[in-house]
Amino acid sequence: MERRDERGWVEVICGPMFSGKSEELIRRMTRYKIARVPVQTFKPALDDRFATHEVVSHSSLSVAAEPVADSEALLKAVDKRTEVVGIDEGQFFDQGLVEVVEQLAASGIRVIVAGLDQDFLGRPFEPIPSLMLRAEYVTKALAVCHRCGGAGMFTQRVIDSDELVVLGAEDSYEARCRRCYDPGESEQTRLDV
Ligand code: ADP
Ligand code: MG
Ligand code: ZN
Repeated sequence: MERRDERGWVEVICGPMFSGKSEELIRRMTRYKIARVPVQTFKPALDDRFATHEVVSHSSLSVAAEPVADSEALLKAVDKRTEVVGIDEGQFFDQGLVEVVEQLAASGIRVIVAGLDQDFLGRPFEPIPSLMLRAEYVTKALAVCHRCGGAGMFTQRVIDSDELVVLGAEDSYEARCRRCYDPGESEQTRLDV
């Protein structure tokens, strides 16, 4: 890619599940589309919870998206004319996404990545933390704590005692605030069952 454009940069939208990351990504991509700026939105091919060729938020907003297998496939799929690249569920990509995003930004593309910054045990969820270090703009989104209505910063895994956990299923997780979050809770529930 050989652009001598100065407009390339990186935006990261992070936070727990239900914090509106996809919603915010969809909003930013839609604005560019309205302005007729050539955009492309990507998502990891493994995330097939929703329609395959769309990013859909929990509030049912959507934008067209191309599923890609990994960061290398994403880089190859970027069109010469594209000026803005959106990426949802960035945490499901390989670490190579950091280099790919930097390469795109260096070539004049504005890259917007949404993804979880922490896993359900509160550990850094790569490659999002590394991307935050490389980003000009970082937006940390908060959800509403499912338990008390406070500032939901964590993703809590909750296990229904009647059924086994289905990974990625919406009702296996809740947004929780600092006080209500308990990474040991799901473990405890499992022992209680
Ligand atoms: P994310 O991509 O961060 O998981 P989405 O953008 O898909 O989030 O969904 C955000 C929407 O989810 C909110 O606008 C709201 O309608 C809905 N929602 C459901 N539960 C919550 C919650 N606990 N806190 C905030 N929004 C929630
Ligand atoms: Mg999302
Ligand atoms: Zn709370």
